[in-house]
This record gives sequence, structure tokens and C-alpha cells, in this order.
Amino acid sequence: MVISNTTAEASTKNISCTFASRYVRTALPRYKMPENSIPKDAACQIINDELMLDGNPRLNLASFVTTWMEPECDKLIMDSINKNYVDMDEYPVTTELQNRCVNIIAHLFNAPVGDEETAIGVGTVGSSEAIMLAGLAFKRKWQQKRRAEGKPCDKPNIVTGANVQVCWEKFARYFEVELKEVNLEEDYYVMDPKKAVDMVDENTICVAAILGSTLTGEFEDVKLLNELLTKKNEETGWNTPIHVDAASGGFIAPFIYPDIEWDFRLPLVKSINVSGHKYGLVYAGVGWVIWRNRDDLPEDLVFHINYLGSDQPTFTLNFSKGSSQIIAQYYQLIRLGFEGYKNIMENCRDNAKMLTEEVEKTGKFKVVSKDVGVPVVAFSLKDSSKYTVFDISENLRRFGWIVPAYTMPANAQHVAVLRVVVREDFSRTLGERLISNLQTVLNEMESHPIPVSTKSAHVTIDSENTQGDKVITKKDVTETQTEITKFWKKLVDRKKTNAVC
Ligand SMILES: *Cc1c(COP(=O)(O)O)cnc(C)c1O
Repeated sequence: MVISNTTAEASTKNISCTFASRYVRTALPRYKMPENSIPKDAACQIINDELMLDGNPRLNLASFVTTWMEPECDKLIMDSINKNYVDMDEYPVTTELQNRCVNIIAHLFNAPVGDEETAIGVGTVGSSEAIMLAGLAFKRKWQQKRRAEGKPCDKPNIVTGANVQVCWEKFARYFEVELKEVNLEEDYYVMDPKKAVDMVDENTICVAAILGSTLTGEFEDVKLLNELLTKKNEETGWNTPIHVDAASGGFIAPFIYPDIEWDFRLPLVKSINVSGHKYGLVYAGVGWVIWRNRDDLPEDLVFHINYLGSDQPTFTLNFSKGSSQIIAQYYQLIRLGFEGYKNIMENCRDNAKMLTEEVEKTGKFKVVSKDVGVPVVAFSLKDSSKYTVFDISENLRRFGWIVPAYTMPANAQHVAVLRVVVREDFSRTLGERLISNLQTVLNEMESHPIPVSTKSAHVTIDSENTQGDKVITKKDVTETQTEITKFWKKLVDRKKTNAVC
């Protein structure tokens, strides 16, 4: 998506090629298809030169998404990159692997699957697609029930905490369901089950709880929610179900917090989504949704593909997609096994703990993430009078770190935090380096509290008015490009108020 063409970047119509100019005499147009072909090595070089300006994924502490896999799995991925997943006739083994993944994950989530039965679920592009499908199933079930009772079914709603990930807002808007959000409070940054149950009415298609809030990593209390909602259901007869958005926590809790009941052990939990590409340890592009029983997925949403004479039911939003991610997920599940996932999650938890302690030691921050939860360290400044968490985030970029800063949603908007996601590839050495860089930034800002951005940037950003952007000096191409990338990132960052992913 091209957001706007008013930036410095768009003012040059052509891409200037550094080394590839040996092969390419004329510059390439930026937004139009070039008239002629160019040699393959030139194309490769041009793109590589531009990509150099992207951040380093390993230093991107903003994201939960996997940035490292074993070379053996990289090879499996490349070997299957040309397989369209939807061609189940041609690639029956890939289909079989997805079905195995669904069953393995369903068992991990304690789905009541009999020995002779297979679990109900599907591989998706990520949790977002998984949530659209789960949400649709709830909406359809609710509509069927209302129609059978002769009651109106045109005002469905869904109850969540104000801390929900943006994909729930998407679901609500795309599929015309009202999103009823439980407000947060200072020092309580997840959905309060009691308030959520109070908001449930006869039009509520489900309550969505989050296992691992995007903002702080905290697990919501699904067990208490199940208890309170069971009581309410008994009183009202509404039978409101629960969905658990376990995008990040679904591959953590089963391994290191097996005693926390959040999954199909709780009777009202009818579906769960998880991102294979977060703590499922696969590169971006895979998620899963699992239903408790066949009855929880309305039959009219399922399409039946006849594959090799047998029936392969499918329920997805798109048709074609790659097979690699499914194969990679299966690789991780069998390569690591329970033991392997447990070790990795314990390690992430220990690194998060170390970071938490070090952040606390600086004396400047209040840590708002919890010990139990997704290994995330979220912390706010005790005193924001001289500089803010946004300034710290900006300054950490100088060292290559991408540590996002954001404000909390309603009613805790006045709290702004920095968040570090601890992934498998975040080693202790990296952690120590981050803390040392953070300390440097703090020392600098204590002694002269002027944000570095206004001192050194060539693209000045008027913080009040984005229309006022202007380019002061131009340096060489690389430097200018770097500044522009920075500028864009800022623009994008500013738009993301609390929608971190
Ligand atoms: C990441 C996340 C999502 C969205 O998942 P994708 O796999 O990126 O589509 C939804 N909910 C929560 C809680 C998340 O952390």
C-alpha cells in the first residue's frame, strides 16, 4: 500500500542504483514497470542494495514473530516454496502434515478428542485469519440459535478487553459485530473477568480472552471468566461461550505453566487460536485455530474438497497459499518435541527475568509486565518530566535496537511503556548489550535531555504538524535513504497508537 506521495522518497521518480549501474545505464522508474528487461544479477543487486536499509530482524525487539530457524528447516522451506498448499490432490503429504499439526496442537490444548477421532481445526496465515474464522463460527452459531428461538439476530456483539490486538477490531468491522471493550485501569492492564461478564447480554456471540496480552504479555484469568460466565449462563440461559486468543501464549503455557487452566479443560472454551509464527517458532505466515468439538464449527461454513477420493473439509478465507510454513511447523513440532519447546520457553522466561531485574536496577523504571506470562518486559518511566519513553525508544535506534514505546488503551492512556519481546534468538549476551546501551541513553538524557532526533536528523519532523516536514540538507544517497527510512518509521509508529503486534 502506498500511503502518501508527499515524502522526500517519492520526490525521486527513479531508483538510483549504486553498483548495478555497471549493468544498467538508465535508472529504473520507481512506480512504473520498466520498458526493458535487465540482467538477473543486476536485478538482484539493486534489490539487495535497497534492502540493506531495512532493520536487522534479530534486533527487532518489537515483534513476537520468529526471526531464526535451523538451517535444515530453512532448506525444507526452500524445497517446498513452489508448492501451492491448496492443491491437496497433488500434495497429499503436505495435507497430511497440516492435519497432524492440528491434532498435535489440539492435544496440547487438551481438546476432548477420543482415541478414534481427529481434532477439528485448520492452519491459517496467522492468528488474524484464525480469529476471523473463529469469530465467524461464533456469529453463525449465535444467529442459528436466535433464529430457532424466533428472536432478532441483527445486533451481534463480542466482549473483549480494551487491550485486544487490532485483528479483533478488524473482525468486528469486517463482519459487522459490535466490539464491546472492557476498559483497563492503571496497574491492571488486562480484561477484568467480572466486568466482562457484566457486559455480556443476549446478543453476545462470545467473550474473547487473551492468553498473553500484546501490551504486557500478561495472561488473562480464563478460569475465573469460565466460572463467572457459567453462573451467568445458568441464570440467563444464554449459553455464551469463550474464545481464547492464545496467539503468543498458546505455545508457552502448555510447556512452562501446565497448571494454569486456560484451554479446553474449561467447558466454555469452544475455540482457541495460536500463531505458529510466534512461539510456535516458525517464520511469518502460519497460525492455527482449533475447535473443541465438531458441533462448535457450523457445518455450512465448511467447504468439502474431494481429495484422492476422500473428503478434505476446508475452512479458510483465501484459496492459494504456500506450503512451506506448514511443513516448517511440523518440523519444529517433531524436531523439538515437548522437551525442546519447554527448554526454549524456559530460556526465554529466564532471559526476560534477567532483563526485568536489570531494568529495575536502573532505578528509573516501573516494570508493568508480570513474571508469569509471555516473556515480555514492559516498563514505564517513573519520572517523565525530562524525557519520555518515546525519546528512549528513538535513542535506542542509534544502536540498532527497535524497542517500541506506546501508550496504553482506555482507561490507562496516561501510561506509556517500552516493550521488549524476548524471543528464542534473544541471547543473554544481546540482553546485556541492550541494558548497557539503555544505560548509556539514560545517562546522556539525564545530562542533556535533548532528544537526538532533533539534533542530527536531516529530515526534521515537526512534532505538532506532519504537514510541516521539510528536507534541510541532502547528503549522499545512503545517508538520505537512511533518514527517509527513519522518517517513515516515525510516521508509521505515530499511527500505531496502541496497535502493536
Ligand atoms: C500477534 C497477535 C495477534 C495477531 O496474530 P498474527 O498471527 O500476527 O495474525 C492476535 N492476537 C494477539 C494476542 C497477538 O499477540
